[in-house]
Amino acid sequence: MAGTTNAFEMAQRQFDKVAEMLRLDPQVAEILRWPMREFHFRIPVRMDDGSIRVFQGYRVQHNDARGPNKGGIRFHPAETVDTVRALATWMTWKCAVADLPLGGGKGGVIVDPATLSTSEKERLVRGYIGVMWRNIGPRNDVPAPDVGTTPQMMGWMMDEYSKLVGQYTPGVITGKPVGGGGSLGRTEATGFGVIYTVREAMRHLGMDSSKATAAIQGFGNVAQYAAIGFTEQLGGKVVCVSYWDREDRTSYTVFKADGLDPRFLMTITDQYGSIDKAKAIAAGYKIEDGGEWIKKEADVLIPAALEGQVNADTVKLIHERVKIVAEGANGPTTPEADEVLKQRGVFVVPDFLCNAGGVTVSYFESVQNDMNYYWEKDEVLRRLDTKMTVAFHGVLEMSLREKVFMRDAAYMVAIDRVVKAMQLRGLV
Ligand code: NAD
Repeated sequence: MAGTTNAFEMAQRQFDKVAEMLRLDPQVAEILRWPMREFHFRIPVRMDDGSIRVFQGYRVQHNDARGPNKGGIRFHPAETVDTVRALATWMTWKCAVADLPLGGGKGGVIVDPATLSTSEKERLVRGYIGVMWRNIGPRNDVPAPDVGTTPQMMGWMMDEYSKLVGQYTPGVITGKPVGGGGSLGRTEATGFGVIYTVREAMRHLGMDSSKATAAIQGFGNVAQYAAIGFTEQLGGKVVCVSYWDREDRTSYTVFKADGLDPRFLMTITDQYGSIDKAKAIAAGYKIEDGGEWIKKEADVLIPAALEGQVNADTVKLIHERVKIVAEGANGPTTPEADEVLKQRGVFVVPDFLCNAGGVTVSYFESVQNDMNYYWEKDEVLRRLDTKMTVAFHGVLEMSLREKVFMRDAAYMVAIDRVVKAMQLRGLV
């Protein structure tokens, strides 16, 4: 959702459209168009050389009618309050569509984390909690990692919060490392969640998943587990993945007509999702231009890298065999391309439904923290499958009943649930 468009204006426009479709009371709509609370603050940090640098931080709490606000903290040099507002708004809808008892929040700091030493990062994240601790907590706002922040940073944040409140409080933050209050299954959660929705979409369309093929953009956390799920759980073939080559500073598609082996490819992929081309070629893979993934003759396309990848130009390249686009990434399809997909009758699993597996297991993490009892990975994944399947069918039913496309249906389900919670609490 990047580019010249202001992300928050876009989030408001999407909301306005669905509010009209739902014939929402304009006074209720006025509440939901804006975050209910925002924090803008400065974080002074002692740098390794003894100097003090001051960082700009934000935390936006969009709506907590259904439960504590939930959403990551991004560290990015181009962070703006409007990006954080948009992301907080989308978190409200994502949690509602997955039927998690959570609201929407998001945080950000204007910083390039690559320019900080490990100890400077630690002081910065502890500083963030030092400012915000009175306004977050397991019962009111639960942050998590996002772009530029890591499980280790979440561990430091949880420690700082626990010290300030005087008791061990792991449920204040999710995305913590396993062994430090984190949940098993979080690594697989988003990619497997994508595949659970693809499986249900195929059933709905009467497709045989064991004969199906997929083309995937990206080979990071989401794409890797989507590829594993597609081959091992659905019995289908993934014909290509693509990635950004950090050495050549360009993207490539890694192709194998009779289906690639995602677990092998993972052994030759670095932590940033960049594949070792020489080793891929040696193993019989074909290396093609980065744009080739979208042209493949496949049944399912899974954009799982960046926003805006299915756009007015690239949508024309999509093969006529493609029946499903499952949006693993956030905002991979532009509104123009969305119209083309609708006209062509391609079934879209919209991002905030498709990739809700991550926040679902974050929710499971906080539940396990509350109980101080941790589930085996199988149990986490079984519960994830149930949640994603139920969420998918809730949206599909709305889409069929109201004769709207899946993206609009997902918004309708989400907004409906939030408004209902506000009504039940007597807030509107
Ligand atoms: P990641 O950083 O682990 O991987 C990103 C992948 O995209 C890498 O393989 C990288 O090489 C590739 N890539 C980057 N630029 C590319 C390009 N121009 N062409 C082709 N490939 C390119 O990221 P991730 O965690 O897998 O997230 C991917 C997307 O999914 C993002 O939009 C993210 O916001 C979204 N998402 C992630 C999660 C999660 O739990 N990780 C949850 C919800 C949504």
